[in-house]
Amino acid sequence: MKVLLVEDNRRLVDALVRGLAEEQVEVTAAHDGGAALVEVRRGDADVVILDLGLPDLDGVDVLRRLRAEGRAVPVLVLTARDAVEARVDALEAGADDYLVKPFAFAELLARLRALARRAAAPRWASLDAGPLVLEPDLTLRIGTRRVALSPREHALLGYLLRRRGEVVPRADIHREVFDYGFDPGTNVVDVHLAHLRKKLAGAPVTIETIRGAGIRLALTEGAT
Ligand code: CA
Repeated sequence: MKVLLVEDNRRLVDALVRGLAEEQVEVTAAHDGGAALVEVRRGDADVVILDLGLPDLDGVDVLRRLRAEGRAVPVLVLTARDAVEARVDALEAGADDYLVKPFAFAELLARLRALARRAAAPRWASLDAGPLVLEPDLTLRIGTRRVALSPREHALLGYLLRRRGEVVPRADIHREVFDYGFDPGTNVVDVHLAHLRKKLAGAPVTIETIRGAGIRLALTEGAT
């Protein structure tokens, strides 16, 4: 696995480069947003670790630019504990996951591996669910309307569509959609669900959160 680490704190960079090297992860470091864009455009990285607080460009701006260029490399964002808004902005800008500083190295490693595995998995064929057709190219067709989805939204919606009508436990979503063998202890699923609900507004489908049980997607208005 090749990782691009974008972080301006040199001590953290040194510690992570050492730790990751022991796990046979190859790391390239960039210390500011400009250098990060240059490195991402090289296209070598399997996963990008992106600190949001950078000396030049904001991490979220870096992310927006690379997604606007159509770069789909998985991005794990590092944020400060109190930066809730920045975290939500980052997910909206196309981050796949986030970790709050300070974090345990083992958790960073597990998430990196999950992102790399997910990115390497073959894309699904189109999935036909009544009036909804989920295309493998990250779009959802609702009748004649086309909605662009992020890779995570696409994976999450695909999984819920396959299990439509069922109350899907969160643990199943963590494992099957996010590749976590553990409870990530964050609201990352809820943030992605909120985005999906927004994008599905007006479509004949509901996604309910059932407290303590899980998530249920149902098609409505006689759709099958
Ligand atoms: Ca920083």
